[in-house]
Amino acid sequence: MSARAGIVVTGTEVLSGRVNDRNGPWLAERLRELGVDLAYTTIVGDRPEDMHAALSFMARHELDLVLSSGGLGPTADDLTAEVVGRFQGREMVLDEALERRIAEIVEPLARRWANLDRRAIEEGTRKQATIPLGATVLAPVGTAPGLVVPPAEDGAGPTIVVLPGPPRELQPMWEQALQTEALRAAIKRATTYRQQMLRLFGIPESEIAETLRVAARDGVALERLEITTCLKGGEIEVVTRYEPPAEDAYQKLVELVRERHADTLYSLDGTSVDEQVATLLSGHTIATAESCTGGLLAARLSARAGASAYFKGAIVAYSDEVKVAQAGVPSELISAHGAVSEQVAEALADGARSRTKADIGVGITGIAGPSGGTEEKPVGLVWLSVAGPGEARVTRSVNLPGGRADVRERATTVAMHMIRRTLSELAR
Ligand code: ATP
Ligand code: MG
Repeated sequence: MSARAGIVVTGTEVLSGRVNDRNGPWLAERLRELGVDLAYTTIVGDRPEDMHAALSFMARHELDLVLSSGGLGPTADDLTAEVVGRFQGREMVLDEALERRIAEIVEPLARRWANLDRRAIEEGTRKQATIPLGATVLAPVGTAPGLVVPPAEDGAGPTIVVLPGPPRELQPMWEQALQTEALRAAIKRATTYRQQMLRLFGIPESEIAETLRVAARDGVALERLEITTCLKGGEIEVVTRYEPPAEDAYQKLVELVRERHADTLYSLDGTSVDEQVATLLSGHTIATAESCTGGLLAARLSARAGASAYFKGAIVAYSDEVKVAQAGVPSELISAHGAVSEQVAEALADGARSRTKADIGVGITGIAGPSGGTEEKPVGLVWLSVAGPGEARVTRSVNLPGGRADVRERATTVAMHMIRRTLSELAR
């Protein structure tokens, strides 16, 4: 059995949804890399009794390790260290060396503000330097020190790693925690796992479920693989975790997926469509003329460092006048076929290409809703066209489900896949 862990994220701002939790997912990924099984993530507010209850829950489930984030500040409502100390049955003691160290960090900050209450600062510093007896101190990244607190003296219960809330402080401090003997001891049962990801585009999740049934029937040792399929913005991610001896079973599964889903399986190594397009664009240039997606495709094409080597620019054309004046769409086309049409999508692609002298132009026009749909052209109808390189030309329409944000997001993903297909066919 592998080492098991839990995460307790604290902070009323996170619990209430005002701040999105970035620490739970980040720590989850680190635990996975270490081969530690994450069993639970709990979010609690800044109330000591709720924090205590979360720790009790984790201890009851016999976890080896608990990581907490937040509540390490100098103010009285930052209570994590004390709650954890009490939970581990450890006395709280003032660490004078740590107190001096925090004072040194705080001093230059305090000097920048006139009329600061010196006594309050000293009190805050003393509070942050008061730690559970026997804990390992993690040097402050901001002002708050972190802690690795071993189980109570009787040895039962989890080791608790106490980390600060701000992600820019938590992340480097986690690296420190990894170096401590106390943490290593808690996870010595960790197993090595491999994790691989397949990505597919343009098939329903039920098809993958069917493939897994076929795999079981064909004798692939699925019980040695932990498979999670996840539908994300029209793409399917198949994530598989396994111990190295199960490599053979995983390869058999991949073989079967390749056989059954050759036309939709586009990534064997987990690379995203954005990464693949960036690689495939080497030696080409691209530009977009976007109506419905308002520049979202341009944002994705330009996201990577070095994108200026292939991304020329974008025309965001919402009104018909701008489509005509900036993207060079003939106004007769718009009056004859409507702004959301095959012809206008192609003209946008051509316009993006000729106006920027790019090798490839992409045009998108659609109805993102919620209003503006007709029976003939419902909300969610999007026309997309990729023109170039050379004589290449692909134009298609899709009917996308969901609200405005979904339609815009999905249309952008469809465009990325059209670009990927065009370029990979060219490379063949
Ligand atoms: P501080 O000394 O800054 O008070 P702290 O350890 O007490 O540090 P918190 O008070 O819990 O940390 O959080 C400080 C700020 O850090 C929060 O207001 C929030 O902006 C950010 N933060 C805290 N927890 C998270 C989280 N889980 N995800 C993202 N941001 C967070
Ligand atoms: Mg705080």
